[in-house]
Amino acid sequence: MNKIPPFDVSQQYQQIGDRLNQAALAVLASGQYIGGQTVSQFETEFANYIGSNHGIACNSGTDALYLALRALDIGEGDEVITSPFTFFASAETISMTGAKPVFVDIESHSFNINVDLIEAAITDRTKAIMPVHLFGRSVDMTKLMAIAQKHNLYVIEDCAQATGATFNGQKVGNIGDVGCFSFYPTKNLGGCGDGGMMTTNNPEVAEKLRILREHGSPKRYFHEYIGMNSRLDSLQAALLQVKLPYLDKWNNQRREISDRYTHLLKEANIPNLVFPHYCSGSVWNQYTICIGDGKRNDVQNQLREQNIITMIYYPLPLHLQTVYANLGYKKGDFPVTEDVSDRVLSLPMFPELSEEQQNRVVSTLQKILA
Ligand SMILES: *Cc1c(COP(=O)(O)O)cnc(C)c1O
Repeated sequence: MNKIPPFDVSQQYQQIGDRLNQAALAVLASGQYIGGQTVSQFETEFANYIGSNHGIACNSGTDALYLALRALDIGEGDEVITSPFTFFASAETISMTGAKPVFVDIESHSFNINVDLIEAAITDRTKAIMPVHLFGRSVDMTKLMAIAQKHNLYVIEDCAQATGATFNGQKVGNIGDVGCFSFYPTKNLGGCGDGGMMTTNNPEVAEKLRILREHGSPKRYFHEYIGMNSRLDSLQAALLQVKLPYLDKWNNQRREISDRYTHLLKEANIPNLVFPHYCSGSVWNQYTICIGDGKRNDVQNQLREQNIITMIYYPLPLHLQTVYANLGYKKGDFPVTEDVSDRVLSLPMFPELSEEQQNRVVSTLQKILA
């Protein structure tokens, strides 16, 4: 039986390889490898797509989060509220500034931060909230923004898994103070290497982001802040420029695949299996089911034996990672997150996944769990 991978980024190259080749060769021939028109054009195109006034490109989604925190003057002595059920970079970047990540438990049905628990975690030191739109699905931004406004907190959106996702019709990344995106190859808009972007409607924040990403230097060799070198390569910008017009199509394919998975799983009526809730604005970076009764790891292994490769995002919550357990967090602090970490399984999900492949995934699951 053919292998069904969890993602397959080479398929985009098969579709639009000629255009990607042309774009890459044009950059190689131009000699403009850092910055220049290609990068600034892509920044404008991406900001337009999100609906933001400013787009500032950088080297990764991780850098985007770090730079956003720095641009909002978050550092030593400050606290930032975020989810313990996310990729490490969300909390890591908070720690990198010297601030403390303060975790708030999630909702089991959306895998996102439980907004109703945020206010109880706010202290005098809280400076910002970092909602993470996990697996392509937006946090409840109406409620979250109301809390942020009431307590005068910044909002930095971690949109790494949610490029193109909407909440009540508004694109994520254009709701809080800064939106942070990743172009890691498996994200919804994936480059051919690392890359990231920050979006904002605040011109002063945009300016500070631009300065911080280039050595804190508003003018070459004159430095106002301790910044860093975090630029998006012209080569990546050119490739992403080719891909951006396809993003809505690819996201719609992901939506169709997710609807189809849900339909098939409903019909299969598999015991101990919970499928994700429908969400119209989600861009389905992952389709993540939950398998109960302590069977998850065994199911994953049995699927692998049938050449179906699934992923566990994420097996160990952030508050239980060594570095955060050392801050005093312990098992039992976030029961929903801990429970979900033991049950989640992300099924193969990429725009080109075929109906036949989906049928095989679901029928194999049915056989294993029957
Ligand atoms: C991928 C990811 C990041 C980091 O992006 P990179 O481009 O890999 O640095 C941050 N947060 C979340 C939720 C992610 O999935």
